[in-house]
Amino acid sequence: MKFDLLIKNGTIVDGTGKAAYIADIGIIGGLIADIGNLDSSADRVIDATNHTVAPGFIDHHTHYDGQVTFDPLCTFSCFNGVTTVVSGNCSLTLAPVRPGDETALAGMLAKVEAIPYDVLINGVPWGWSTFGEYLESLDNKLGINYGVMVGHSAIRRWVMGEESHDRTATGEEIEAIQDAIRESIEAGALGISFDRNPRHVGLDGRPLPSNVASLDELYSVASTLKELDTGVIQVGDPLGQELSDEICTKISESSGRPVTYLSIVQSVLEPQQWKKHLSHLEDVNSRGNVKVYPQINPRPGLRFFQMNSAEFFNLMPTWKSIMNSTDEEKISAFSERKTRIQLAQEIEENNNKTALGFSGRWDHVVIVKPALQSNAILTGKTIQELALEQSKDPLDVFLDLSIEEQLKTWFARNQQNNDDDAMSEILNHPHTLIGLSDSGAHVVREGGYGYGVYFLSHWVRTKKIMSIEEGVRQLTSIPADIFGVVGRGRIQIGSKADIIVFDYEALSLNESEESYDLPGNAMRLKQTARGIPYTIVNGEVLIEHGEHTGALPGHVVRNDACLTYDKASS
Ligand SMILES: [Zn+2]
Repeated sequence: MKFDLLIKNGTIVDGTGKAAYIADIGIIGGLIADIGNLDSSADRVIDATNHTVAPGFIDHHTHYDGQVTFDPLCTFSCFNGVTTVVSGNCSLTLAPVRPGDETALAGMLAKVEAIPYDVLINGVPWGWSTFGEYLESLDNKLGINYGVMVGHSAIRRWVMGEESHDRTATGEEIEAIQDAIRESIEAGALGISFDRNPRHVGLDGRPLPSNVASLDELYSVASTLKELDTGVIQVGDPLGQELSDEICTKISESSGRPVTYLSIVQSVLEPQQWKKHLSHLEDVNSRGNVKVYPQINPRPGLRFFQMNSAEFFNLMPTWKSIMNSTDEEKISAFSERKTRIQLAQEIEENNNKTALGFSGRWDHVVIVKPALQSNAILTGKTIQELALEQSKDPLDVFLDLSIEEQLKTWFARNQQNNDDDAMSEILNHPHTLIGLSDSGAHVVREGGYGYGVYFLSHWVRTKKIMSIEEGVRQLTSIPADIFGVVGRGRIQIGSKADIIVFDYEALSLNESEESYDLPGNAMRLKQTARGIPYTIVNGEVLIEHGEHTGALPGHVVRNDACLTYDKASS
């Protein structure tokens, strides 16, 4: 037996949670043909001595629906150990689409996910109508594997047109929506996505169609998957309607399918909430026919801001009027002692009232990037730390620095997913799903591509919250099984050869940098990783030492199985 590719002597962490072992992997025709002590010849041999060999990560929460059509690598996911991405999240897809309606779908994706509209309109070749045609347009053109759910907002526009933004669906329309879903799933959609975020609107300011649907409509639409006995359901649930009304549980009951939703967080503003959330999950998932998994982003929830434009102070009247004045007026108001007393009082009154506003927790406000070279030494400090050092009041420290730097200091609120004990419990919980990278979205502000590298290097290697075997399983076979990504996410004979070779001790994220490589030279933030010399997709090396090899081995991942999956008992 001659192999196309032979990976020699690596430490295999196979994605199932089984203990790591040293062996060779032989690949033929894109599949893992043999594992063991292999002597056969091969067209190419990779020496993986002292390296970990694992399945590539499966990033289930991305918004590459448009980008994938002009960027077959889905950069920068492919530079962060990801070999399969799932798009079509949060009710947003670019198919099915009626001729002439492309601008509406692009407008919703652009506005909600902060992707430049011109990039979507001019960069995407369009030309498809049905979901199947969209998938066919991608066949044989991909670097990375690409799966996609069908978005409820797109389907509702397909059936109801403009009125999809304004009203609930009639019985007849619900049937037509169900037909369109059936057709999309049969063409290869991995499932359906819904959105319940009332702040999500299209470019014209109207709500996303999925948000206008009644809950009964959602349950009926979800039940389409029951007869098909396949598919995953993703729900954007920022108001916590799962905790108040069990909407995701009811969607799982009516569909009989796994439901994953946004999200579970640990927040300094509501310190007990994550515990309540976990016990809620234990309750509903013990009901037998329910499988719900909130998504947890393993990265700290940094919210970047500058004092020339920050919006979250708007809930406090004095702050609001200052923040809505010119920069000069801001500086002069922030300089007045009398005003500062008022500002301090409002923070006190507002304290911990809302997750959207300012918490008053100066120990969670970090100086990310000072504007002046002379202040570079402050980078990474919290306002609280600086106040202690300078024996000053934190509000004075914060405003003095902002004024000194003409409101151009970059700060971040670090209020979420930063408590070690809480995060260890949430990330280890059998009913949570690690991910939520949102890759391909808000590309100018933040790129979440490196969630897997961050999770393994920070939580698993440094904080030791679980073994590497379990950590890799969380990023590979678990999302593969929930999303019906069949034959991937495990290193075993017969599996698709999606493999990363990495140096576990060296694994880390590079600093983000600006990159002007979107269509029309539009800017986005670039983030890549260190310590992954080889990323292999369907048996071909896609990325070698940080460079694309030129290969385009990716597949469209189509729904092709009726998985009944239970993460807790697997
Ligand atoms: Zn999303």
